Amino acid sequence: MMRQYLELKEQVPDCILLFRMGDFYEMFLEDAKVASRVLGIALTSRDKNGENPIPMCGVPHHALEQYLDTLVNKAGFKAAICEQVEDPKQAKGLVKRDITRVISPGMYTNPERIEAKDHRYVASVYFQNAIIGLACLDLSSGEFMAANLHSSPELIFELARLEPWELIMAAEQQEPAMLSQLGEMASLPRTLVKALELEEGNKLLRHLLSEPASDGHGAGLMAASMLWSVVIDTQRCKPEHVQELVFYEPRSFLVLDPHAIRNLELFRSIMDGGRKGSLLHSIDYTQTPMGARLLKDWLLFPLRHKMLIEARQQAIAELIEARLSLEEITECLKALPDLPRLLGRVGMGQAGPKDLASLRNALMLLPRLSVAASQFNAPLILDSVKMMEGMDDLSHLLEQTLASEPPYNLADGGVIADGVSSDLDQLRALAGQGKNWVAELQQSLRSQTGINSLKVGFNRVFGYYIEVSKTHQEKVPPEFMRKQTLAGGERYITIELKEKEAAILGAEESALALEVKLFNRLREQVAARSGQLMALARALARLDVLCGLALLAHTKAYVRPVVSEDGTLDISGGRHPVVESMLKPGEFVPNDILLNNEQQVLIITGPNMAGKSTILRQAAIIAILGQMGSFVPAEKARLTILDRIFTRVGAMDNLAKGQSTFMTEMVETAQILKEATPQSLVILDEVGRGTSTFDGLSLAWAIAEFLHNLQGVGVKTLFATHYHELIEIANSCPRVRNFNVAVKEFNNDIVFMRRLAPGGVSRSYGLQVAKLAGIPQDVLQRAHNILQQLEAENTLNNEMALSPQLALFDATSAAEHPVLDRLRELDTANLTPLAALNLMEELKRALG
Ligand code: ADP
Ligand code: MG
Repeated sequence: MMRQYLELKEQVPDCILLFRMGDFYEMFLEDAKVASRVLGIALTSRDKNGENPIPMCGVPHHALEQYLDTLVNKAGFKAAICEQVEDPKQAKGLVKRDITRVISPGMYTNPERIEAKDHRYVASVYFQNAIIGLACLDLSSGEFMAANLHSSPELIFELARLEPWELIMAAEQQEPAMLSQLGEMASLPRTLVKALELEEGNKLLRHLLSEPASDGHGAGLMAASMLWSVVIDTQRCKPEHVQELVFYEPRSFLVLDPHAIRNLELFRSIMDGGRKGSLLHSIDYTQTPMGARLLKDWLLFPLRHKMLIEARQQAIAELIEARLSLEEITECLKALPDLPRLLGRVGMGQAGPKDLASLRNALMLLPRLSVAASQFNAPLILDSVKMMEGMDDLSHLLEQTLASEPPYNLADGGVIADGVSSDLDQLRALAGQGKNWVAELQQSLRSQTGINSLKVGFNRVFGYYIEVSKTHQEKVPPEFMRKQTLAGGERYITIELKEKEAAILGAEESALALEVKLFNRLREQVAARSGQLMALARALARLDVLCGLALLAHTKAYVRPVVSEDGTLDISGGRHPVVESMLKPGEFVPNDILLNNEQQVLIITGPNMAGKSTILRQAAIIAILGQMGSFVPAEKARLTILDRIFTRVGAMDNLAKGQSTFMTEMVETAQILKEATPQSLVILDEVGRGTSTFDGLSLAWAIAEFLHNLQGVGVKTLFATHYHELIEIANSCPRVRNFNVAVKEFNNDIVFMRRLAPGGVSRSYGLQVAKLAGIPQDVLQRAHNILQQLEAENTLNNEMALSPQLALFDATSAAEHPVLDRLRELDTANLTPLAALNLMEELKRALG
């Protein structure tokens, strides 16, 4: 047996092998040591008294799913299940065993244990010269996509968006140079495979591609084919619900890097990492898990094409207008199951009676849904209606075949409706009528023989029998065959009775076997329609998202933004959806923000707690919501399409994450300065706080100037800072404007107005905020005295120390002047006198 075990283990060296023995799944050797620790079960040993006792542990077979959840889902191990593939009673010698499935974290699909509103992705990465191929599959719901990426940061961004649970890589690419390109993702559970040739890959994926992939798709296709080969290998079936491999271009969506995702709390709150408190949570009015997942996708991949954005807006606008139809559609959606995951179970041969019954119920709702939805003009809604067509036959088939309320387990019987199969009906009648038939037979035999005491009975040894007492022996007809003699009488059987008996006893078993056969056939018939059904599921998920966004807009008074490409971001009465939802109605103070080609960098000053960070984030969030096609929390908005949103939050605000060093802050800022374009939005919140005051101030100053001058046109930037000295930048940079979040001051107290107003502030109100926070009076008094002293010294030093400081800033800004750059680049040796004259004229003009 151990030889059999070791042979099987060799097939799955990277898995913990669960080896079925009787009622247990046993693990041996290293596996047993690991599993006993992870699962918290006792480690014993086989062959205890032998020379080499074998470590072993086991779990009862009925609790397998629960242990897999811990081992694979929570602890990230891969598990292989080995079953007995022949009946142990009939086996000669060792029972035949085989590996029936392999379960890994990225392909764990147990619907009761994976998050309904999140995808469960397994990703694969393939490095091909300068291109990095990425593929990603949610096996539970069938989404399969691939992309070709051009840099390691791009790879890290995509992985951060998709949050895979497992990474598949080519075995030959496990080199430090490549692993280092994965960043934090290098710590994901990894599965290694052999890379396929492009041609092989094309062949493997042919059924998923609308056209064969060309060389241009090479890296992405390689990644996808590696991934698919693992699916085939581990699932031991061809997942029918995976219908297409979609190539996507990350650059055609708004880039959201990990910082933006985290700082804007799009999917998780920074406080506790939970869904609550995130933007997604506050905008989710979907009715189904498939809708909730798609909404998340929309938020993860905001659009950059005006027409696509407006198509979503149109649908939402129409749904808000036709409230009754919206309610009717919402009612129907509420009753729908998670179709993609249901079809996933169908496609992988795991669907149970309840699954097909809820598919049936869903299909039966389609006519009502389609009537309600076809009243609209928006192409996105009408496309969804189109997908609802052509399902009548399948709907009828399911309606006729399945019992109205089938049991959870196929083995319980009663899954297939009456009237579907005359064989099944007869078997059921036979099984059900067993008792009746015996009573009837007894009656008819009594009248036939005239023996009134004749009995038809049943025992385990002889089955059905006819019992006649001694006194009536002479009346027994010749076709009765004597079987057993008793003290008071004889027991007989007849041919008819034995035939009936076989029929009755077999009926139940046969009925069950027939039901299983009929059910599997039905499941296959449904699986054969996977393409059409998956398209329907996608259409319904989209309808759910559109209705959800309409409900959101209606409930929370969002408006339809005007989308443009003219560089203007103009928000009137904007609100932060999450902060607003945590306050009482009416408590949130809306704010206006205008960024355009003349007013590009807003320096926002104001004391702590004034509301600066909130304003910054709400601008970014409104832009993102707008680009995902949603309405936005504002009175009016005009949004220019952005290519990327950068966020940099000062060190202090990130302490909790343990990434608070000044170095990280600067690394991230450097990235912004290198990658921002005039179509980007940059959010800088307290940059430069992680170092000494003058260092920080100088850096903040230079960074703001750089962003103002970028590519001669500048980047839209919102810069919140408590360095009120920064308001001076506006004097030398024409597109920089000062704003402040107003506070009112009286008697040394402050009141937060939460309102953004033009102009800078020249004080930080630190002591007032400290007072509000409850710092004891004598500490405040002492701080007040120190402050006065410092301020007095400062005035004294102004002519001496501080002036050189300011002069330094002037020097920096002069050094940054583009004219100097032109001069540095000048090839004086090859300059003609005329060209030199012209250049001097030009430079003079540039100086203004
Ligand atoms: P800052 O960045 O200036 O220190 P925050 O933006 O972090 O201030 O805001 C501090 C708190 O003030 C928030 O947690 C919120 O409770 C409240 N707040 C912020 N903006 C508003 C607003 N517009 N209306 C009402 N309350 C607000
Ligand atoms: Mg702040």
